[in-house]
Amino acid sequence: MKQYDYLIVGAGLYGAVFAHEAKKAGKRCLVIDKRDHIAGNIYTEPVEGINVHRYGAHIFHTNNKAVWQYVSQFAEFNRYTNSPVANYHGEIYNMPFNMNTFNKMWGVVTPAEAKAKIEQQKAEAGITEPKNLEEQAISLVGTDIYEKLVKGYTGKQWGRPCTELPAFIIKRLPVRFTYDNNYFNALYQGIPNGGYTAMVEKMLDGVEVRLNVDYLAEKEQLDKLADKVVYTGPVDAYFGYKLGALQYRSVRFETEVLDTDNYQGNAVVNYTDAETPYTRIIEHKHFEFGTQPKTVISREYSAEWKKGDEPYYPVNDEKNGALYAEYKKLADAEPGVIFGGRLGEYKYYDMDKVIEVALSVAEKELA
Ligand SMILES: Cc1cc2nc3c(=O)[nH]c(=O)nc-3n(C[C@H](O)[C@H](O)[C@H](O)COP(=O)(O)OP(=O)(O)OC[C@H]3O[C@@H](n4cnc5c(N)ncnc54)[C@H](O)[C@@H]3O)c2cc1C
Repeated sequence: MKQYDYLIVGAGLYGAVFAHEAKKAGKRCLVIDKRDHIAGNIYTEPVEGINVHRYGAHIFHTNNKAVWQYVSQFAEFNRYTNSPVANYHGEIYNMPFNMNTFNKMWGVVTPAEAKAKIEQQKAEAGITEPKNLEEQAISLVGTDIYEKLVKGYTGKQWGRPCTELPAFIIKRLPVRFTYDNNYFNALYQGIPNGGYTAMVEKMLDGVEVRLNVDYLAEKEQLDKLADKVVYTGPVDAYFGYKLGALQYRSVRFETEVLDTDNYQGNAVVNYTDAETPYTRIIEHKHFEFGTQPKTVISREYSAEWKKGDEPYYPVNDEKNGALYAEYKKLADAEPGVIFGGRLGEYKYYDMDKVIEVALSVAEKELA
């Protein structure tokens, strides 16, 4: 008999939810992570008393009441509502595009006036079959919004001008004809009081966790410890990249402590001009209505990904989709291993979806 029922590789959200459920079902679990901390990419660390989102800003939002109730066991959520603003050469616009944005842009007051303005600009552009992302965006929202709020930002995100990006990247641009700056349409939204790390710590309460352990470096030894493995690392790395490496878009953060209590007045400010090299500045304290004397900001730079970099966003193109399908066949045929989470399934998953999937896999597995 082995020492553990499950070896869970990755102390991120997927691994923590699975471990919590397995422990509840009386299973013996060991969670390992190659990093020196739990919580994976939702890790928050205290700096000057402020919870800093080290791997990018994370706002919990869901329409799934069961998932909301589930996470609420582990943390109390505050009333944070994501309302980013766009800074275009010092002009400030509300996001997502809504009546506040249109009023600032054109001085229009009613939804009918805003719709008429957009329609007029679309008609003037006269684009019937968009050939690239620029034409697609103009045909959806007109020239002004494209020029000030889409062009520079999207170009920076993809590392190429919009005229060189395919039209299909934006099928639609969310436009709202109400004075509502709430970015998400979700029923439930907030940030866990005290940060995400404390929430994951509660999920892992009573579960053995070993940090700084790279599963792939010690696979043979570690496999001897447990009957089954739940693997939430990169699926291509598991198979030694034998079919090739899956590609990602990466993000680079420059984080700085500033000797001021309020730098930008909002948690998220997008820089939508092409000249500013970063895409956004996150001011972490505003996620939790912080009143600390100092502040911490992170400038976000979109970056090409190369092997060894932190993988952030899977690239959902045909080439990578086909390659993942091949890895998925290998994963399905791997005895005693469950592949899960954003890296194990090469999928962009919001936190609520990761919880949903981990719960459903755990339910089947532990039945
Ligand atoms: C920039 C960014 C912003 C985001 N913002 C939001 C948001 O606002 N709202 C939202 O709902 N979602 C957001 N997400 C999605 C969110 O980050 C994911 O849903 C969540 O992190 C997925 O959890 P996971 O457990 O699958 O993966 P991870 O958190 O990546 O956990 C996997 C863990 O496995 C470990 N690991 C990998 N390989 C090994 C190995 N060989 N040995 C040991 N350990 C290993 C890693 O170190 C890691 O800790 C965002 C994602 C990104 C990239």
